[in-house]
Amino acid sequence: MRKCVKCNKKAEVYLPQYRLSLCREHYIEWFENRVEGTIREFRMFSKKDRILVAVSGGKDSLSLWNTLHKLGYQADGLYIDLGIGQYSEDSKNLAIKFANNIGRELHTVSLKEEVLSIPEIKKEDPRPACSFCGTLKRYYMNHYAKKLGYNVVATGHNLDDEVAVLFSNVLSWNLDYLKRQYPVLEEGKGFVRKVKPLCKMSEKESALYAFMAGIEYIEYECPFSEGSTSIEYKKLLSELEERHPGTKLRFYMEFLRKIYPLLNQEQEQTNLRPCKVCGEPTSRDVCPVCALKAKVGKVTEPNV
Ligand code: SF4
Ligand code: ZN
Ligand code: ZN
Repeated sequence: MRKCVKCNKKAEVYLPQYRLSLCREHYIEWFENRVEGTIREFRMFSKKDRILVAVSGGKDSLSLWNTLHKLGYQADGLYIDLGIGQYSEDSKNLAIKFANNIGRELHTVSLKEEVLSIPEIKKEDPRPACSFCGTLKRYYMNHYAKKLGYNVVATGHNLDDEVAVLFSNVLSWNLDYLKRQYPVLEEGKGFVRKVKPLCKMSEKESALYAFMAGIEYIEYECPFSEGSTSIEYKKLLSELEERHPGTKLRFYMEFLRKIYPLLNQEQEQTNLRPCKVCGEPTSRDVCPVCALKAKVGKVTEPNV
C-alpha cells in the first residue's frame, strides 16, 4: 500500500512524473500550490486584479475557478451559453450550481441573443463548428470582461490542450500562432489580459482535482468535438507520456524557455484597429464576429 509522502495516511493518488504519492487532502493542496506557483512564475495577476473566469461547466474551468477562489483571488465567472441543446443546458446548470456553492457571481451571455446558437450558425457556415465557436467565445469573453469591469480573463486550458496546440503548430510550423502561444497575453490595443493558470497541470491532474474536491462537472463532451484532430494529437501524446512520464511538460516548457523568446525577438508588426461596426480590436476593417453576423443575417450591433 502506497502512503502519502506528507502525512503517511493511505495514498489515493500516485503522480508518476513526480514520483509522488498523496492522500486526498494533500493532493488538493499540491494542485492548488502548483497553480499558485504557475501564476507567480508567469506573473499572471495579483490579489488586486479583477478576474473573469471563462466557465464552461467542465472539469478544467470549474477546477480553476475553485482554486482561484480558495487561494483568495477576486474571481467571478462568465458562462457563454452556446445553445448546443442538452449539452449547453446541463453545463449551464452545473456552472450556476457551482457559483452558488462558492458564493461568487456568474455572468451569463446567450449566443443565441448575441448572434445565433452554434447549431444555427452551423447551418449557414460550412466550416467546422469549433473554428467559429472559438472565435465567438474569445470575442465575447473580451467584450464582456471590459464591459463588466474585469481586467483579466482566465481560461481553463490545461497542459494537454496547450501541448496539442503546440504540436499541431509545430507540425505546420505556423510561426504566427507559435508567437502567440504563451500562458499570458498582455492587455492593450482593446484586449484585456488573458491567462492560462492551468497550463502546467495535465488533464488527468485537473480531473483528479475536480473529483477529490467534490466538484460536479459536465462529464460528456460537446457533440461537435467528435473527430477533431486535437483529440487525436492528445491521444498520441498521452501514449508517449505513458511510456515517458514528463514528456508533455518538457515539450511545453522547453518551447516557452528556448523557442518562444527567439520567435518574439522581432518587433510585433500587428496593425490592430477598432472594428468599424462594433469597435472591438481587429486586424481587418470589420472583425470576424461582425462579418459572421452579417453572413447569418444578424446585423444588429452588439452593445458597446
Ligand atoms: Fe465549441 Fe467546438 Fe468546444 Fe463544442 S467542442 S464547445 S463547438 S469549441
Ligand atoms: Zn496526506
Ligand atoms: Zn466587430
